[in-house]
Parts: sequence; C-alpha cells; structure tokens
Amino acid sequence: MPGLIDRYGRRLDYLRLSVTDRCNLRCIYCLPPGGVALRPPSDILTYEEILRVVECALELGVTRVRVTGGEPLVRQGLLDFLSLLSRLPGLADLSLTTNGTLLPGLAGDLRQAGVARLNLSLDSLDADRFARITRGGRLGQVLRGLDEALLAGFAAVKLNVVVVRGFNLDEVPRFAALTLEAPVHVRFIELMPLGEAGPWSARARVPTAQVRAVVERELGPLEPAPGVAGAGPAEYGRLKGGQGAVGFIAPMSRGFCASCNRLRLQADGALRPCLAGGPEVPLGPLLRSGCPEPALRRALERAASLKPRSHRLAAGERGEGRVGGEAPCMARIGG
Ligand code: SAM
Repeated sequence: MPGLIDRYGRRLDYLRLSVTDRCNLRCIYCLPPGGVALRPPSDILTYEEILRVVECALELGVTRVRVTGGEPLVRQGLLDFLSLLSRLPGLADLSLTTNGTLLPGLAGDLRQAGVARLNLSLDSLDADRFARITRGGRLGQVLRGLDEALLAGFAAVKLNVVVVRGFNLDEVPRFAALTLEAPVHVRFIELMPLGEAGPWSARARVPTAQVRAVVERELGPLEPAPGVAGAGPAEYGRLKGGQGAVGFIAPMSRGFCASCNRLRLQADGALRPCLAGGPEVPLGPLLRSGCPEPALRRALERAASLKPRSHRLAAGERGEGRVGGEAPCMARIGG
C-alpha cells in the first residue's frame, strides 16, 4: 500500500500542524520572558497553503491531523480554517492542542467546526503557581475553558501536565483525582531538553515511573484502561471508579521513537520529520512558487525519508553528541 513510509518501515499517518509561532503565555520551561523572535508574517503559511499540504498528505495516507502552535487560538480566522480542514476527504480525526486561556466562549464553536478531540495544557491547579509557571496566565480562564470543553461534546478531552521537580510534583495526586470527578484524561509528561528547559531539564525531570508511583501511593492502583489509547505514545491506567484515564508520556525515560508516526508542519512551512531536531524540508518557497502537486508530494516523501530512527535528546543531555547550539523550542515546532 503506498503512503509515507520512512527508512525504518514506520508508516507516517499523523500530521501536526502549527498554525502560528505566537503564544500568549511564556511558560518558564518553554519560552524566555520576552518570547522568541517571531518569523515575519510573510513567512507564515496562509491557511490556503496549509490546506494544500494537508490535502497532499491525506492522499499519501495521513488520516489524523492535530492543530497546535504557538497558541493556535490566537490566530485570526481559525474557526473557518478548521471547518474547511475537517471536511477534507480522507481525514479521520481532527484534534487541537491549546493552553485554554482563550477557550471560554469558543469550545462549542471548535466542536462545531469539526474538532473531535481537545488537548489542554495545564501544569498547576493553584492560581499563583499557574501565573508563575506561565508568567502571567490566569488559571480561572483555563478552568472555565475546561468546563465548557467538557460540555461541548468532544470525543475526548485530555489535560497535559508537564511534571517539573520542585514545582508541581506535589500536585500530581490532585491532577490524577480529576479523572474521578469528570470524564477527562489526565496525562503526565516528562520534561524534555527543549526550549528554555534545555540546560536544566535533566535535573527537573521526574521520570514517569516515579509519577506513576505517586499516583498509586496516594490514590490506589491503576487498572488497565483498554480502549483509551489514541494515536499517540501515552500509556494509560484507570483509578477505581475513574471516569477518565490517567496517562503517562515518557519521551525520555522510555522513548517511543520506534512507533513514531508523525510529521510536523511548522507555521513557517518547515516540514519537520522529528520533534527533537535534524533536517527540515522547507515547503514555503515551494508553495509560493505555485508548485505542481507532484513536487509537493515529493517534498512530503522526502521529509518522510529523512526521519531519523530516534531522537538523541537523552544522549545530548549526557553530553554525548550535540543536541544543537540552541535547544529547539516546542512553541516553534508545535508541541
Ligand atoms: N499553546 C499550546 C499548548 O499550550 O498546548 C500548544 C503548543 S505548546 C508548545 C504544546 C505543549 O508543549 C504544551 O503542553 C507544553 O507544556 C509542552 N512543552 C513545551 N516545552 C516542553 C518541554 N521542554 N518539555 C515537555 N513539554 C513541553
């Protein structure tokens, strides 16, 4: 069966689209206080250009698309774009990742526009702490957004929590307990040496095994949670009586490159085979030159062929090999 198959036999059927490099938060592990230099607006792909890439990807066997950023909800015209995107033939699943600050008043519209599943990033349930880690974010807005999302009829609502030692490890039980109160999946993610966390992530990371042990010590054993797994790398369990599941994403202590099925399109048109760095295929110039379909198709196939066997983030942290002068930043790549 034709499609985007890389050199290691992995079928790439999942495309993450960063629609903007702008974010309205400055999470301490992600962005510097003043933000990073943004690409000039003329470098940012138009929605029409993004849709062209997605159409081509769908013809090459991609079936799932996640919209992310930067913060996707800051980009004007997003709802109309999502409506067009969700109706593209061949798209089986459209999801969106947001920090939730602009979600109040918008969750129902996102569902209407065809977003099936919503991921919300949230690292603290304490308002002061939340403001500190995001450098000014307001927790109340995110919680209102979450409440609206839970009522909007999404197939799944997931909370993504990056666990940072000395910052929010003590909140792990409280987060996990949310799955007892609402049909929400809560996923704990290991900090990666990306963005601002590059120099200190090894010290601040809490391995998944430890986070899981905290959950089970405080709230009881996790039972198997069949049927929860999505396209991604999370491993799930369920607390007794849980409406949602508790998930663990361990890019560093376990890794899941062997089953990575992703390509990432950055807002500036760079098509990125691996989250953690390596070669990119720039699609912007190609799209602006009105490239014919076969050329675009070849560019996608080239990106697939450049996908490395695995990321080298852990090796870089240990000082073996170079991760890159400046750690790549999730806000630019589209986490
Ligand atoms: N603004 C959207 C949001 O907050 O979900 C989408 C972009 S944001 C960069 C995507 C995710 O990347 C967030 O959940 C954030 O916590 C995560 N992230 C950023 N830097 C990270 C790092 N160094 N390690 C692990 N996760 C990181």
